Amino acid sequence: MDEYTGSPTVNRRGLTRSDGLGLPPVDSSSSIGVESPSSSSFNGDSPARPHHSFRRCEPTLLASTFSTAYMGASASKANLASADLDDTDVAAITGDVPGYQDFVAQYPNALNVATQLIEKLKGKQLAVFLDYDGTLTPIVTDPEAAVLTDECRAELRALADLAPTAIVSGRRIERVVSFIQLQQLFYAGSHGLDIQGPLAGNYKLENPEQCSYQPAAAYFSTMNTLNDELREQMKSIPGSSVEHNKYCVSVHYRNCDPAHLEQVDATVTQAVAQHGGAGVRITHGKKVLELRPDVPWNKGKAVQFLLENLQKRWAPGEAPEIVPIYIGDDLTDEDAFQVLQETGQGFGVLVTRKKRDFTHALYTLRDPAEVIVFLRRLTAYLGAR
Ligand SMILES: [Mg+2]
Repeated sequence: MDEYTGSPTVNRRGLTRSDGLGLPPVDSSSSIGVESPSSSSFNGDSPARPHHSFRRCEPTLLASTFSTAYMGASASKANLASADLDDTDVAAITGDVPGYQDFVAQYPNALNVATQLIEKLKGKQLAVFLDYDGTLTPIVTDPEAAVLTDECRAELRALADLAPTAIVSGRRIERVVSFIQLQQLFYAGSHGLDIQGPLAGNYKLENPEQCSYQPAAAYFSTMNTLNDELREQMKSIPGSSVEHNKYCVSVHYRNCDPAHLEQVDATVTQAVAQHGGAGVRITHGKKVLELRPDVPWNKGKAVQFLLENLQKRWAPGEAPEIVPIYIGDDLTDEDAFQVLQETGQGFGVLVTRKKRDFTHALYTLRDPAEVIVFLRRLTAYLGAR
């Protein structure tokens, strides 16, 4: 039993604005690299600010049909199999797989263009958003073994002293905090459904509740129930495991025999169906099915919320141009990449050793080791200016 016994944190901001989630709509007509003052801010109350021009130098590859593999109410075996194509046994890859060089030609390695990127940060406020698994730590067989290295922790600490830094993970926020052990960071757990601000450091808020947000608090009990039921039912499927991520229940099948995928699919689908759908949707990550409250919220919305919150540190009209960088490896990170692309703010960096058919990121990094080097470059620049 892995049940949250305390009361869920109440959404103190409330679902009150026009879009129901406290954020203005994304201007989908704009794209990164296009000078569009109207898209430079997602806060309709903010005055227009000069638009930065993060324009990828290499040929662009834009498609309008990409989506983040939302599977609706059912996880079919076919979907499990096709999604595997996007999964990566990263640890097993020692070199670049076929096609990767062509991919990187379209989505340059951020280390190769770091100097140019840093040049464009001059006079602007950097904000860094990071996924956890597969981004700061390698993907591992046991999710509980994804511990952060001391080296990476030190880099995060140094960066967080100089720029607001946030971890945006599918894991429950308490688990992410326990892995990272830094109070200076912003955290968004459960794929952005559970947000808190820094409790220490240069970006600590006078009132921490100002940055606390749980848009799916009403689903707290439902997710507990689904977790308990699936934990019991998945015992019969060797290699499977259930991870309670508070506003997300993750069913891992990385260690399952492929012959059992159908049973994984059926068990998860049935559990949701037994609750009449219960307003829960099933999404697909790397060798994991995730049950999430069916609310219009994702990592991209969480990034927008945090950026909006960050902007409140300055008086209206006095905020510097904020340049967010989001680094992540998973399909769910595409929602954040897409927000940055569509709002024309900053850019996404996809962590991958394999080509992906399409991404909203502009740049790539191969693995967590390269992520750390990139963060070190950013920190060195910020510390020197
Ligand atoms: Mg990840």
